[in-house]
Amino acid sequence: MRMFGGAIFILTVLLAAVTFLLPEPEGFPILEYHQVTDAQLDPAFEVYNVPPNEFAAQLDYLQAQGYTTITLKDFMYAVRGYRPLPEKPIVLTFDDGYADNYTTMLPILEAHNMTAVVYVITNELGKPGYLTFDNLKDMQRRGLEIGSHTSDHLPLTSLNKITQRRQMRESKIFLEWSGLEPICSLSYPNGEFNSELEEMLREENYLTAVTGEAGLNTLQTNPFELRRVHIRKPRFGLTEFKFRLFKASFFAKLKNIF
Ligand SMILES: [Zn+2]
Repeated sequence: MRMFGGAIFILTVLLAAVTFLLPEPEGFPILEYHQVTDAQLDPAFEVYNVPPNEFAAQLDYLQAQGYTTITLKDFMYAVRGYRPLPEKPIVLTFDDGYADNYTTMLPILEAHNMTAVVYVITNELGKPGYLTFDNLKDMQRRGLEIGSHTSDHLPLTSLNKITQRRQMRESKIFLEWSGLEPICSLSYPNGEFNSELEEMLREENYLTAVTGEAGLNTLQTNPFELRRVHIRKPRFGLTEFKFRLFKASFFAKLKNIF
């Protein structure tokens, strides 16, 4: 038993050393946020709330590290060769379309000269606690990208084909016909996806989709299977945020080895 423990220890140290020595992975992170608020809500949802002061500290850190925020449209421009990516790109995404994305998150974002992608559930728009259509229009005018999180936030993989298509098509058409710029990106509800959904998204004129899979992305990553780094309410402040970024690059490096 002791020998076994010792072998595990040596293996862990070796793996850590190899990972540390490897060059930085080329991939860039896409962060997945939900609410930016101090409010104490339902404890089950509280893990998704990042307090405003923590959010501001995270953006300070990203800025100090030399990151440039881009949208997923910027990513697609780079994939298609129209313009290069900045040296150290990062994407900030916000799921579900909560009202604080406009009232609390946006001012902090703009104070840092940064941009983001906000994914809305179209049938929730205008309900208490959710963004309004005017909020979306203003956010788009201010350079943020608006994406679809479908009409009703049902896990797409559990639906029949007709309902799947309606969920992605009607949310996009609703936003565009209400006067927004074209909607090009979708966030899979609960992160669930498969290759049939990707095909359908292509047919419905989406260009990208973000999942709940952990990891980094490159220009070669399937644009309908973009990976994200989930940012939860931190229990250990900025250290936890740095750890989550580190973990993503650690696993990206591991994937480079195997
Ligand atoms: Zn969601």
